[in-house]
Amino acid sequence: MATALLHYTAAAVSDLGRKRSSNEDSYGFSVEHGVFVVCDGMGGAAAGEVASSLAVDEILRMVAEAGSAPSCEQMEDAIAAANHAIYTRAQRNQKLSGMGTTMVALAAMERQVRVFNIGDSRCYRLRKAKLDQITLDHSLVEEQVRIGRMTEDEAQRSPLRNVITRALGTQAEVKPDIFEFEAEPGDLFLLCSDGLTRELEDRLLESLLSLDLPLDQLCVRLVGAANKAGGHDNITVLLVRAG
Ligand code: CA
Repeated sequence: MATALLHYTAAAVSDLGRKRSSNEDSYGFSVEHGVFVVCDGMGGAAAGEVASSLAVDEILRMVAEAGSAPSCEQMEDAIAAANHAIYTRAQRNQKLSGMGTTMVALAAMERQVRVFNIGDSRCYRLRKAKLDQITLDHSLVEEQVRIGRMTEDEAQRSPLRNVITRALGTQAEVKPDIFEFEAEPGDLFLLCSDGLTRELEDRLLESLLSLDLPLDQLCVRLVGAANKAGGHDNITVLLVRAG
């Protein structure tokens, strides 16, 4: 079979939701370098916003410096640089002490796709109308579910469901999980913050993502559905299509 080059297109929407007074999510991407990032910040006052935007900016800055599509090592270096930038900023400024962020990033180079994850933002892949979750949450309750100590239902209702076990910027060093696979033409990738996935079950995500709509309209549909379901948190959706 001929291996035609894949091209990636993207669209994103970040929304306050219906309960929060500020948006601590950030996203950014470079189609040119094939890099797409969503971050969900945490920390008092405006610290979460600082952490998530610093992470996105630093990763994209490093990627742009690297020139072409980044290698796995260059992505790891960019993520380490983002971690360092947040960590040192928090140490210098007491108001920002303890700030951190989740980070899910997709790096695509022709067919080769790598997904990097820290925290509980997620990456999904819709392929032939079937949705698969690529990342595993670094969350206390999801880790209990994975070892069979808690059911998915208990996890959803747990008061500890917000506790994440890995974050960018809260410690001197952190390693992302890395998932590697080949994209197929038509694949649709969703990067999102938990403000989407707490409101919408995977089955509903799958049917919404299967709608034959332009990416920007799909983003609006997803955010609208999460708001309709409650909009308890900030909602960020970044869609990437391989074609
Ligand atoms: Ca969130």
